[in-house]
Amino acid sequence: MTYASLYQRSVNDPQTFWAEQARRIDWHKPFTQVLDYSRPPFARWFVGGTTNLCHNAVDRWVAARAEQAALIAISTETNSERTYSYRELQSEVIRAAAMMQALGVGRGDRVLIYMPMIAEAAFVMLACARIGAIHSVVFGGFAAHSLATRIDDVKPVLIVSADAGSRGGKVVPYKGLLDDAITLSPYKPAHVLMVNRGLAEMPMTTGRDVDYAEQKALHMDASVPVVWLESNEISYVLYTSGTTGKPKGVQRDVGGQAVALATSIDYIFCGKAGGTFFSTSDIGWVVGHSYIVYGPLIAGMTTIMYEGLPISPDGGIWWSIVEKYKVTQMFSAPTAIRVLKKQPPELLEKYDVSSLQALFLAGEPLDETTSTWIAGALGVPVYDNYWQTESGWPMMTIAKNIEDKPTRLGSPGIPMFGYKMQLVNETTGEVCAANEKGVLVVEGPLPPGCLQTLYGDDERYVSTYWSNFERQVYSTFDWGVRDDDGYYFILGRTDDVINVAGHRLGTREIEESISSHPNVSEVAVVGIEDKLKGQAAVAFVVLKNAAVLTDDAARAKLEKEIMGVVDKQIGAVGRPSRVYFVNLLPKTRSGKLLRRSIQAICEGRDPGDLPTIEDASSLQQISAAVGR
Ligand code: AMP
Repeated sequence: MTYASLYQRSVNDPQTFWAEQARRIDWHKPFTQVLDYSRPPFARWFVGGTTNLCHNAVDRWVAARAEQAALIAISTETNSERTYSYRELQSEVIRAAAMMQALGVGRGDRVLIYMPMIAEAAFVMLACARIGAIHSVVFGGFAAHSLATRIDDVKPVLIVSADAGSRGGKVVPYKGLLDDAITLSPYKPAHVLMVNRGLAEMPMTTGRDVDYAEQKALHMDASVPVVWLESNEISYVLYTSGTTGKPKGVQRDVGGQAVALATSIDYIFCGKAGGTFFSTSDIGWVVGHSYIVYGPLIAGMTTIMYEGLPISPDGGIWWSIVEKYKVTQMFSAPTAIRVLKKQPPELLEKYDVSSLQALFLAGEPLDETTSTWIAGALGVPVYDNYWQTESGWPMMTIAKNIEDKPTRLGSPGIPMFGYKMQLVNETTGEVCAANEKGVLVVEGPLPPGCLQTLYGDDERYVSTYWSNFERQVYSTFDWGVRDDDGYYFILGRTDDVINVAGHRLGTREIEESISSHPNVSEVAVVGIEDKLKGQAAVAFVVLKNAAVLTDDAARAKLEKEIMGVVDKQIGAVGRPSRVYFVNLLPKTRSGKLLRRSIQAICEGRDPGDLPTIEDASSLQQISAAVGR
């Protein structure tokens, strides 16, 4: 089988292609229709079929693989390591499901999960899947304001959280942030289920908050049957940043997702039942959903959950995990590898990493230096994956297991199965020729596993993603170019979304947060090139009262204060690396902020032709502020 033949079939005859792939998972009731695309751009996959993600990820394997490790939870923050076999995982998931049911959670109800990388987080996700509840995981690095926005949008019956997370030995108490978020949110959850790790104070609100361990003790021998769900019911909502301050709730189905993940684990990652998958991401991001929890387990693999830094206790920690657990597939982000590249080489050389078959990197552009270094150091091929929260699984890479085509440095590769990728001209929407820069779009229907819509907002889904060109196509909001051999290269975002260390952040969200500082009149946030993190957010602020900037100390104090506002509202993930003070921001005559020009100046590039700029001196101010 060649890539070309399989890919062609997947786009020319998706019904047959995906019906075949659907055999990879267990169906309780077979589907009657592979694809319903009668209401574009909404695609419904495996219509009428009933299945369950928890059954496919857990129960299915208990028969033949009961004693095989399913989940290994490692924390170098608390120095703990615990392996759960498939049988043990099933018991833990059932207990969590019983606890949730006792707290009133049923099919279709939302459960918000605000947790660190501990095993209970995976138990709760899988428990939601088991009973047909919809989970919405919020990254533990987000603070009260961001959390409140998500609580109010998804309206959870139950929130599951923990006393604290920990990062580099620094305890981050979650409960206070969560309580603040619940106070801020107009919507209030009925219950909060708290895991006590003994790391921080955990004040409990009577009648609302309950303790995980105490509840679990009541359900040790519970039996909770799997609820069979129609393929298109909602499995989860995961918020991601957009160009407005309001995050977008990416909504995913049940059956399509299970099939897509199973297909990708085989074709793209070469994962086999019994192998070990180590994804260094966090459950708060899409990679965590797809390739820490669901994907590897649906494939009968062992999955590793890791809490801690890549360089603690030293820069060899990940390689020691690869050696100890004979990791076969590893998935990470370029930023993490750039961090590891700065470590003494002995820290890698001293471990036996020969179990590893390949390293997969995603989430941000993979630079040649990083890719070449890690491939040489590990002695395995490195595959760049291009995808998005919206797609849920790689849109472009090399499907190693189908045809190990050569990779091309700087390119994530070629389109994956079912993705009708195109590059189109930004203004005319016409398809670009080879080597011509354009906006990367996908022609509908999107393949299984991709978002169904934005939670509770079909209209926003259509207007955001599908209404940018005359022809109805899905926009990735990325620039790209394709070479003569069909390899794609990603050239950055077309919108105001930035990518810091593989995490997508909306500049609008950060700007809104900074604007809440009493002395801020106007602000522009842009992403500028950063050697380690890919991009870093920097803010340009116009003050209401600039007289406070009496000297460098006052300037530094105010900069810190503004960063503190972002920390408090969004969390450290959104904190700009620098805040510059200017008297004027560059805008067009119609008042549109020229973020791209600001970015160009910061990166030492020519800001280009700016015919409608209101006041050219604003650009000089930016140059002066950043010393360009
Ligand atoms: P997220 O939804 O947070 O995963 O962010 C998705 C965005 O990250 C994409 O739209 C791209 O801008 C960027 N991205 C993801 N993977 C890659 C990659 N392999 N190369 C370049 N950019 C990437």
